[in-house]
Amino acid sequence: MTPALSVLEKTFGYDAFRGDQAEIIETLIEGGDALVLMPTGGGKSLCYQIPSLVRPGTGVVISPLIALMQDQVDALTAVGVRAGFLNSTQDAAERRRVEDAYVNGELDMLYLAPERLRISSTAELLDRGTIALFAIDEAHCVSQWGHDFRPDYLQLSMLHERWPTVPRIALTATATELTHHEITNRLDLSNARHFVSSFDRPNIQYRIEPKNQPLQQLLSLIRTEHSGDAGIVYCLSRASVEKTAQFLVEQGITALPYHAGLDAAVRSRNQSRFLREDGIVMVATIAFGMGIDKPDVRFVAHLDLPKSVEGYYQETGRAGRDGLPSTAWLAYGLQDVVQQRRMIDQSEGDRAHRQRLGQHLDAMLALCETLQCRRVQLLAYFGEESQPCGNCDTCLSPPVGWDGTVPAQKLLSTVVRLQRERNQRFGAGQLIDILLGKRTPRVIEQGHDTISTFGLGADLSEQEWRGVVRQLLAQGLLAVHGDGYGTLVITDASAAVLAGARPVMLRREPERAAKATKRSAVASELPGEAVGLFEKLREWRAGAAREQSVPAYIIFGDATLRGIALSRPGSLAELAGISGVGEKKLEMYGEQLLEVVSAA
Ligand code: ADP
Ligand code: ZN
Repeated sequence: MTPALSVLEKTFGYDAFRGDQAEIIETLIEGGDALVLMPTGGGKSLCYQIPSLVRPGTGVVISPLIALMQDQVDALTAVGVRAGFLNSTQDAAERRRVEDAYVNGELDMLYLAPERLRISSTAELLDRGTIALFAIDEAHCVSQWGHDFRPDYLQLSMLHERWPTVPRIALTATATELTHHEITNRLDLSNARHFVSSFDRPNIQYRIEPKNQPLQQLLSLIRTEHSGDAGIVYCLSRASVEKTAQFLVEQGITALPYHAGLDAAVRSRNQSRFLREDGIVMVATIAFGMGIDKPDVRFVAHLDLPKSVEGYYQETGRAGRDGLPSTAWLAYGLQDVVQQRRMIDQSEGDRAHRQRLGQHLDAMLALCETLQCRRVQLLAYFGEESQPCGNCDTCLSPPVGWDGTVPAQKLLSTVVRLQRERNQRFGAGQLIDILLGKRTPRVIEQGHDTISTFGLGADLSEQEWRGVVRQLLAQGLLAVHGDGYGTLVITDASAAVLAGARPVMLRREPERAAKATKRSAVASELPGEAVGLFEKLREWRAGAAREQSVPAYIIFGDATLRGIALSRPGSLAELAGISGVGEKKLEMYGEQLLEVVSAA
């Protein structure tokens, strides 16, 4: 057995490497550099933790996520790895203790905030001990065009200059070609081995629904499929974060808000509760999430349309890092398109910038309106070819395409008539009222009941008309005017439709029967007789986590508890064979677990 495999088994309790892990680890152990692009949940941490344990000296991890260093160190300590961190949150005495441990060779791993390398004493400190390797986590932070740019990352090329013989590994879950190039160039990794994994996350079920009553839809998702599960709900604005969190709390769900407008102390308390307690729903703006490596987030819900496919994939990727079944759910409606187009029109920056934003939005809309497998489309966006997945909404209940040419013509000609005959522009609501032949006060007041398309669309419901408008917007056959009021205008492409020269294919939403399970997604995948034990094990874990004030997943992941619930081990030896049970944890918790099993 290789030393790497032996550490994997004894320390981490796993029996095999995944994907490229074995090769990456060998590369580093032999002193080579590596650049690793692997999706969230792919298992990046082991790629530098194991070589740090096998090579002499201390593995130095550069990470921008100061708030999470304590948890990372706790997770390593729990499996018997000697780890520490140095960042600005510590007092001098605490820092001193970690520095001494490093110099005395008593640390396997040391986490460093990038800004510490600006201080010359840090480099001098590192010289007084033995460096096993440098791991540059969240390496996409060197990208000046990305949204996570950290200036301190630019100077990380100094690592190679100052310590040319120490192997380096840079890791990221950002998949684009551009980021890949920037990391290679800025960190001088052209001689490194590059490991690019598939970015597929097969355990995440992708679903996108039309938005009708978003809060009720969200509630039904949580109640029917994810009751008691941890999840993240993303909203666009601080106000909707607050409103949504409050709504969920009123419905008896443990939900917490997180956005940049909250006091730093409240934010950090909410984040810490989300990590530590089981089954909390975090309602947040996209300010929340980077580096959150809680493995058992069972669902990520979006109540507003994300601005790009990249952002969407990164956010949904926070579900199911442990590989167990999870849901990525998005509700999206006409209003989202109008609002986002308006935000782009009003955004600062030059024309090229706005054009780029527009392209990002178009790609996101194409994903929402596709008749094909969501995953095929997502992966294709990142340059990866794949086959229909069988685990997304379009695969599970295929939407039907229908010929929407005539309704599109009716709608577009209403827009044209208002414009030409009366020099007016209106939003979707008024256009639909006209088509449905509704004599609302506004229709009467404007005399819109005399327009020739009045009442011509009574064959479709209001809901269906909203779907038509939304899809015409998504297809670029209708546009939001830049007046800031969300009024609609035709586009260059509309003319061909009005002239009957271009057919319009639309998507009809399939009826979706909600799954009738009330259990959490993880429990519901277990055979009935194992569910009771699984819940008992979760209770035990919650108690142990509280006692030691560490996040529950640091005690054991859901995947390990599932393994125990399924195999009902009767001895320590049997328990040791379960994935995720290493030597240290067996010693600490073995007897307690056997008791829980035999009592159930
Ligand atoms: P990433 O940093 O790439 O998002 P992590 O390193 O957090 O992923 O790993 C995700 C999960 O997979 C963790 O719970 C980890 O313990 C588990 N894991 C990683 N490698 C293996 C393996 N070889 N066998 C079993 N579980 C693994
Ligand atoms: Zn699919």
